[in-house]
Amino acid sequence: MKVKICKMCKQKFTPSRQGQIVCSVKCAHEYSKLLQAKKRKKEKIEFIRSDRRYLTRQAQYWVNRYVRLRDKGVCISCGNKTRKMDAGHYRPAGRNSALRFDERNINCQCVVCNQYKSGNLIAYREALTKKIGLEMVLELESSNQCKKWSVEELREIIAKYKAKVKELNNG
Ligand SMILES: [Zn+2]
Ligand SMILES: [Zn+2]
Repeated sequence: MKVKICKMCKQKFTPSRQGQIVCSVKCAHEYSKLLQAKKRKKEKIEFIRSDRRYLTRQAQYWVNRYVRLRDKGVCISCGNKTRKMDAGHYRPAGRNSALRFDERNINCQCVVCNQYKSGNLIAYREALTKKIGLEMVLELESSNQCKKWSVEELREIIAKYKAKVKELNNG
């Protein structure tokens, strides 16, 4: 058979059977340990990632809930108040993840404005300018930052906004 390079020790060897990728029993053993370690590492990363996804959703849930309470359930774009309100990002969170949990960037919106009118942005901008001032609006508009929120940061946001929601509910 043709000479191969051992996957483990990187030395040349002549396989004694088809599909052999390591030169010796010792290398086979080490190689399987290596693969297992790689798999564990991958699983761990996978776990952390899914945890971060979960925490991101939780953090957004609590920030949004706070925003709806803060804004007393009134749509920033059209002024309507319905039973079910959304919290709408002025700058979409997907492309501006640094603004994902920014209170200035999230305001109470009715489902019609948020979901069917793509945020009803012209009216949104007008009302937001009145609410937080043109300077802040321009600041939000010039921000194009991607931020990878850490598990710790997400946990802090969740705790902070749970407390703020509680405070508003009690006050
Ligand atoms: Zn080897
Ligand atoms: Zn609306």
